[in-house]
Amino acid sequence: MSDFSALRQQMIEYQMAARGFDDQAVLRAINAVPREEFVPTELVEFAYNDSPLPIAASQTISQPYIVALMTAALELKPEDRALEVGTGSGYAAAVLAEMVSQVYSIERHKILADSARERLEDLGYANTKILHADGTLGWPEHAPFDAIVVAAGGPNIPTTLKQQLAIGGRLVIPVGASLHTQKLLRVRRISADEYHQEDLGDVRFVPLIGAAGWEDETTTKALKKAELSLPELIYQSSEHFANIKDVKLDNLMQRIGDSRFVLLGEASHGTAEFYDMRARITRELIEKKGFTIIAVEADWPDANHINHYIHNTSAAPLQQSPSFERFPTWMWANHSVLEFSHWLKAHNQQIIDPKQQIGFYGLDLYSLNSSIQAVLNYLQSVDPQTAEIARIRYGCLTPWTRDPSLYGQVSINKQYRKCESDVLANLQDLLRNRLDYSLADGERFFNATQNARLVANAERYYRTMYYAENNSWNQRDQHMFDTLQSVLANRGPEAKAVIWEHNSHIGDARATQMTARGEFNIGQLVRQHYADAAYLIGFGTDHGTVAAASEWGGPMEVKQVQPAHMDSYERICHEVNTDNFLLPLRQPLQDITRTKLLTERLERAIGVIYRPETELQSHYFYASLPRQFDEYIWFDESSAVKPLSKETRAGMPDTFPFGL
Ligand code: SAM
Repeated sequence: MSDFSALRQQMIEYQMAARGFDDQAVLRAINAVPREEFVPTELVEFAYNDSPLPIAASQTISQPYIVALMTAALELKPEDRALEVGTGSGYAAAVLAEMVSQVYSIERHKILADSARERLEDLGYANTKILHADGTLGWPEHAPFDAIVVAAGGPNIPTTLKQQLAIGGRLVIPVGASLHTQKLLRVRRISADEYHQEDLGDVRFVPLIGAAGWEDETTTKALKKAELSLPELIYQSSEHFANIKDVKLDNLMQRIGDSRFVLLGEASHGTAEFYDMRARITRELIEKKGFTIIAVEADWPDANHINHYIHNTSAAPLQQSPSFERFPTWMWANHSVLEFSHWLKAHNQQIIDPKQQIGFYGLDLYSLNSSIQAVLNYLQSVDPQTAEIARIRYGCLTPWTRDPSLYGQVSINKQYRKCESDVLANLQDLLRNRLDYSLADGERFFNATQNARLVANAERYYRTMYYAENNSWNQRDQHMFDTLQSVLANRGPEAKAVIWEHNSHIGDARATQMTARGEFNIGQLVRQHYADAAYLIGFGTDHGTVAAASEWGGPMEVKQVQPAHMDSYERICHEVNTDNFLLPLRQPLQDITRTKLLTERLERAIGVIYRPETELQSHYFYASLPRQFDEYIWFDESSAVKPLSKETRAGMPDTFPFGL
């Protein structure tokens, strides 16, 4: 069975049968027509989606379900002769041709009429005739017809068409006073001058333009909308805002609905607007939707400092190492995060039930050294004998904790081969003693287990990094996802999580170039596990400044962000006639803006390193934005995060999360 016939059957099952549609003759006809042949090549993968799709001349191929519904409403018999007004792609004509002896179809756009004629001929539909003309006048030479279907919405029922019905014939037509919404009517010709009319429900069709339809002049404005440029369409489809403080997020909250996961991205690791907007959205999610978990792209022990701070508990002894010391410090030790931590602390102070307080967790795995220390310190305090064994087992990693990437090179040597099992054994020991340890202090036990898990995964990560780069990416994102799962298990089945990571982690990898390299990410894993319960939001910017280094481990610099590349999504967004906007992307496909954005384009990703000199090679990749994210938030101009200076950090009270 070809992929398409499987998709066709799914379409019949989920879009038609599941809606209670059971006209077997129509379903057989739909099953016989290869819809993929009727859509533009670049949209072939969406051919069986539950939506109309754009075709040439700013027209559409109708939603499959609507075609089924209208065809059924015609009550066709095999010997019938049918007329269609509005050939479009020719798809509905092909469905009719499967069911009746002869189909006549009229299209007012020559380009559509010609290509539909050729397509139907190629597919062997010898019983169809296509005419380029105004269909509101019918096709008198071939009248009367047993069935007439009009695939565009007019202001009223054209008399000519009624007159071209045979006695007993049926005319199905969308009619409405406005250009884009109509009622689907069925008119039955009872006798020479008697007709019976039924209302079959609300529909939305492109306008019927012609002598007995809308006048061209009236429609010019409406049609112009379909011809708008992409930036103009984005302008119309997006919510604009002046600044982060005053942005109204009610509609966004509505779109997020009951989602249990909201993933908030960033297009760089050093842009203040991304942090501040994420904080703003997270605050609303906490206050209005009961989110209690914030999980971020930071290491577990570092994030735990913030967690302690916002719970007003001083860091446990094992946490006394300085926080956010590792490159790139500005990613979390910055004024935006500090301000947000204050808010979280104040919020938690008002919540009595600890289960409802906000927890702040790190998903990343770069803290080999401090995680080892954390596990050892914990064991030392609860079980010194096991601590001793654990210290020996971790011994194989300790020479490399300063630069763990070197560990990969030596890990094939005999003496290091046992390291993997040693490191795992420490985690297993902890888990085995779960009951004893957690009785004393469940939170500290959980924290130690997460650190032990991190060490085990980091060991594998560095080992694989040396041999297979993309595989190590996957291990990192798998670790992030597993950590998220542990946090959820710890916080209980009702807990809802906000996740802050770079766009490249939270945007579904399947919609990007990453997938071709066999890479996945946490966004993809969350979507695969939780489907629509996850809402993925990407962020973007055109120009401004960013905090980044020139090479790994280098000092932070405030760099100028280059105006976006000509062929990028960012360039299109830059051309939108407003500075900041929220662009919902999860609507059904009939939204023309989303459909036009589907075509893959370049997208920019700035990490902790930014190299404007080689920007195209270093920072751009191909993606399909609406498939990657459910929503996109745009700041045309943005500015670098403000790092906490050494002096500020040194001067902070011990209880602060960013002290040195
Ligand atoms: N049945 C088509 C298919 O399967 O692809 C979809 C039709 S599309 C929704 C409506 C079509 O009606 C457009 O191609 C439009 O150009 C055409 N149309 C509008 N007014 C018309 C008229 N007066 N005569 C003929 N075609 C017309």
